[in-house]
Amino acid sequence: MASIFTKIVNGEIPSYKIAENDNYFAFLDINPLAKGHLLVIPKQETDYLFDLDDEALSGLILYSKQIAIALKEAIPCKRIGMAVLGLEVPHAHIHLVPLQKEGDINFSNPKLKLSKEEFEQIAKNIRAKLHS
Ligand code: AMP
Repeated sequence: MASIFTKIVNGEIPSYKIAENDNYFAFLDINPLAKGHLLVIPKQETDYLFDLDDEALSGLILYSKQIAIALKEAIPCKRIGMAVLGLEVPHAHIHLVPLQKEGDINFSNPKLKLSKEEFEQIAKNIRAKLHS
């Protein structure tokens, strides 16, 4: 069965999309640790990040770099943190989280509750900073 992220890539379920290319897709995490917390995934479904072949994994990281640059321009923060968990969704993904302090990337923190309008505005602000 297709993962929830494959369904997002295929447009079968909605997401707050940031960007995509032939191989990768970026969208806002629906339970964010911070405003702008997003996920970058390979379109090709593989459960475990470190099962990706070298080309797919390095491509995912380089694509995450492009997204992180735009994210840092869009959301005032000290750094963009990067994390890999994969404990919930069996489709490899990288979390990018705007950080003011170390504790901002503690996944045990309560998640932000944002309205649809807030998610849409955040996604729009990040997309506006993407460099082609
Ligand atoms: P993990 O697999 O442990 O890295 O966690 C999966 C992440 O995916 C969590 O942060 C969820 O909030 C996020 N997530 C799950 N379903 C969706 C969805 N439909 N749209 C956006 N983010 C999601």
